[in-house]
Amino acid sequence: MEPVCPIDSSCSNQISLLLNPPSPPQKYFEELIKTRQSCGLEVRTNGKHGKGVYAKVDFKEGDLVLKDPVLFGIQHSSNKMDCLVCSHCFQFIGSVELQIGRKLYLRNLADASGSNSGKRKFSSALKDCSGQCNESRDHGDSDVEECDVDRCGVSDSKSNTNVIPKDVIDSLMEGGLKLPHSDIVSLPAVVSCPGKCKEAYYCSQSCAEADWNLYHSLLCTGKGSKSLSTEALSVFIQHANETNDIFLLAAKVISFTILRYRKLKTVYFEEKEKHDAPSILGNCNFSLLLEAWEPVSMGYKRRWWNCISLPDDVDCHDEVAFRLQIKELAFTSLQLLKAAIFDKECEPLFSLEIYGHIIGMFELNNLDLVVESPVENYFLYIDDLPDSEKEKAEKVTESFLDALGDEYSGCCEGTAFFPLQSCMNHSCNPNAKAFKREEDRDGQAVLVALQPIHKGEEVTISYIDEELPYEERQSLLADYGFRCRCPKCLDEELPS
Ligand SMILES: [Zn+2]
Ligand SMILES: [Zn+2]
Ligand SMILES: [Zn+2]
Repeated sequence: MEPVCPIDSSCSNQISLLLNPPSPPQKYFEELIKTRQSCGLEVRTNGKHGKGVYAKVDFKEGDLVLKDPVLFGIQHSSNKMDCLVCSHCFQFIGSVELQIGRKLYLRNLADASGSNSGKRKFSSALKDCSGQCNESRDHGDSDVEECDVDRCGVSDSKSNTNVIPKDVIDSLMEGGLKLPHSDIVSLPAVVSCPGKCKEAYYCSQSCAEADWNLYHSLLCTGKGSKSLSTEALSVFIQHANETNDIFLLAAKVISFTILRYRKLKTVYFEEKEKHDAPSILGNCNFSLLLEAWEPVSMGYKRRWWNCISLPDDVDCHDEVAFRLQIKELAFTSLQLLKAAIFDKECEPLFSLEIYGHIIGMFELNNLDLVVESPVENYFLYIDDLPDSEKEKAEKVTESFLDALGDEYSGCCEGTAFFPLQSCMNHSCNPNAKAFKREEDRDGQAVLVALQPIHKGEEVTISYIDEELPYEERQSLLADYGFRCRCPKCLDEELPS
C-alpha cells in the first residue's frame, strides 16, 4: 500500500517553500567561493541548464580550478572494514600498522561470525545508491542481484593460505609491532568521538569538534549523544546498513539542518534580548528553518522513487511496483530516524516529501568520494628499495601482503555532495576533471583544467566516461535526468 506521511499534508506549504526557496542562489555561492582555495570562479544561473560554474580568470592546462570540501559525505558502510579514515575530512588516520592490523582483525571477525554463510541478498539498486559510478565494486561480477559481504571487499581473499596469528594482529593494532620503514607514511593520530561512540574517529580535535557541531551530535550513539534515544538511533543505522547507506547521508542532512536551526535561533533570541523587543517568534521559526536549510536548498532535487533509474534486473512491467517499494523503504527509514532525532520545530524536515527529495539529491548529484590508501604507497616504497634492504624488509612484510591479498590497498570509498562541484554542468568534451594530486589526501573534490579555460567560459566536467559511443553516453546521462546537447553530441547526433 502507498505509504502516507501525515506531515506531508500538515506542513505542505512549508515543504513547498523548502523545495522552492525564495532567495536567489548568487549570494550564497559568492560567500561560499570566498572560503575556497581558488577564487577564480562564479556561479551563474542561465535559462538553459539552471546553474553553471564560470571562470572569472584564465586557467592554463593542468591548473587547479577548485578544491571543494565535502558538505555531506559518508564512507560506504561496506568500506569501513577496509580503511580507517577521519569521519569528517576522510583522510586516513592512525598508522600503516593500524590500517593493516585492523583490516585483518575485522576480516577474521567477519569470517568467524559466519557472515559468509548467511548471505544477505539485496537488490543492487536498493543497496547501492550510486549504481552507475561504482564500477569498481560491481566489476567482474555477473550476478547483479546480490550484494553480500564478500562482494563488498570485506573478505575477498579466500585464496590466501597465510594466516597471521591473532597476537601479531593485536600487536600491529596496538602499536607494539612496527613494520620496517613504516615511518615513510605519516598519518595523524586517531582522535575519538567527543560523544564516546565507537563509530566515528577523527584526524584531529578540530575535525572532531566541527563534525560534532555540524552533524554528529544528533547522530552519535555514544553516551554524549544529543539524540532522543541512542537505541532508536542504532535501529535506524542498522536498517540503513542493511538496505541502503544513503539513508545515513540523508540523516546527516537533516541533523545538519536541525543543528544549524538551533544555532540561528539562539543568535536570534540573543539579538532580540539586546534590543528588548517583544519576543514573538511566530513565523520567524520557519524563516530560521529556511535559512538553516539554505545550503541543502541549492542542490538539484527530485523525489528519489521517481528519479531512481530502473535496475537492469527489474522488468519494465514491474516499474510501478519497484518505485512503490523504494518509497516504502524510504518511509520505513524515515520513521526510524524520526524516533531517534525528531524535533517539533523542524517538523517539515521529517516529511516523506523532504526525505525523498534529499535522497534524490544524492541520486542526481552522485559524486563519488575516493581517497587513495597510503598502504599502497608503503608497499610500493618497499618494492622500490635497493635489493639488500628490500630483501630484509620483505621478510617481514611479505606475510602481511599475502594475508591482505589482492585488496591490500583498498581506497576509502563513499558518496558525497560537494556544493560547488555539484553546480558544474556536464559536457562530453569537458574542460575540467576531478584529479587527486599527490598532496590531496582527504575527501575534498579537486578539479584541474584539462585545457586552457578562458575568463567568462563555463567550466564543465563529464559525469560519465566521455569516451563511450554516443548512444551509451545518452543512455547513462538519462539517469541524471537530461539529454546531452553538448557540441560533441550535436556533432555525433544521427540526422533524423
Ligand atoms: Zn579530519
Ligand atoms: Zn560519536
Ligand atoms: Zn554530450
